[in-house]
Amino acid sequence: MTGDLGDLQTERRPPCPGCGEPWLRPSNVPGRYRCVYCLRRYELRSDCPNCGAHSTIARMSDTANVTCRNCGGSMLCPI
Ligand SMILES: [Zn+2]
Ligand SMILES: [Zn+2]
Repeated sequence: MTGDLGDLQTERRPPCPGCGEPWLRPSNVPGRYRCVYCLRRYELRSDCPNCGAHSTIARMSDTANVTCRNCGGSMLCPI
């Protein structure tokens, strides 16, 4: 029963701040994400809503960049 899903979870995906499920997907608009599980929409902020640290977003398509490198919190704001 264990180990079968290991390969599917090697790809890092940030969990949805709303429902906690790792179903965030980039939308057609850069910097916007949508959770296909709870259907909420999020905007990727350039400043962390938790600690206020600014982050240089070099790769908008990389979903791993939605995590603040300073405090480890999510930089997604619901819209
Ligand atoms: Zn969600
Ligand atoms: Zn932060």
